[in-house]
Amino acid sequence: MTDPIILSARNVKKYYPVKTLGKKGLVKAVDDVSLDIVRGETFGVVGESGCGKSTLGKVLLRLEDLTEGTVIFNGQDLSGLNRAGLKTFRKQAQVIYQDPYSALNPKKKIGAVIEEPFKIHRLFTKQERQKKVVALLEKVGLHPDHRDRYPHEFSGGQRQRIITARALSVSPEFILADEPVSALDVSIQAQVINLLMDLKKEESLTYLFISHDLGVVKHICDRLAVMYLGRIVETAAVEEFFAAPLHPYSRALIAAVPVVDPRIALSAILEGDVPSPINPPDGCHFHPRCSIAGDICRRKAPRFEEKLSGRFAACHFPLINQGEAA
Ligand code: ADP
Ligand code: MG
Repeated sequence: MTDPIILSARNVKKYYPVKTLGKKGLVKAVDDVSLDIVRGETFGVVGESGCGKSTLGKVLLRLEDLTEGTVIFNGQDLSGLNRAGLKTFRKQAQVIYQDPYSALNPKKKIGAVIEEPFKIHRLFTKQERQKKVVALLEKVGLHPDHRDRYPHEFSGGQRQRIITARALSVSPEFILADEPVSALDVSIQAQVINLLMDLKKEESLTYLFISHDLGVVKHICDRLAVMYLGRIVETAAVEEFFAAPLHPYSRALIAAVPVVDPRIALSAILEGDVPSPINPPDGCHFHPRCSIAGDICRRKAPRFEEKLSGRFAACHFPLINQGEAA
């Protein structure tokens, strides 16, 4: 039987050395994150800008080396992969980034863009590749004739379709989508999201879906993790999460959902700004902005642990039995 867990991260850290005002410091972009992603699910990662979502995605897919910790994908420790192993892994796990404008080489025709992964992985004959390119274009809702055009001839939504076709070309099992619609017009965001969800079904994919938009995550994800200053503060099934979040930060995020820019809404609910990840607050990182923080929150970082059956959070005072208040 195949393992239901496709990706498993344990105590993953990514620290960036930085210099501020001549002094050396560390940005703890990801600080001790553990999570399991179940085969076939859409796993969301949410949190405000700068909380470490993209960095987490990068280290989980070994696009950047981690500082500490382990990532297991399909039973294999990613840090132990040699060149050949890494190449195989790159076929299994693909990435769709936020910005479809900079992700495409302006000098390359779309057909060549989509064909590229076949060449890298030495798949198929030239003729077969051409056929596959046409099939992929159709799969993502584009026209076969589009293969002879250049990126600048396409809208943002169409470009994201092209990038999706390229990601699918090598038949991956896993796709990291890092804010895949955030750069697109609101009017076409839903189309691209629907395409991604249709493809997930057709191709039996697993998604790691990074977003600051809780509305989208609520709509498409099965489970989610909430990040705050490099740490996961809560993981839960989406339905349970929205019905009754356990972490005060989660509650604030949910309260801000209907508003377009989460930062604007959050500033109305939370005190102050997100502190610097170079000098995060002691204890619980969230305590300076938390309405229910006690003395212990200033002194001691809460452990990330099971608070209710299947519900994990890092909080000294989780919101248990407060669903109605949320
Ligand atoms: P998010 O995707 O949630 O907006 P990021 O993962 O991009 O957050 O960034 C998390 C933190 O790490 C931020 O403070 C960011 O400035 C910092 N960071 C990201 N990449 C680097 C880097 N290469 N060097 C130094 N700091 C970085
Ligand atoms: Mg990001």
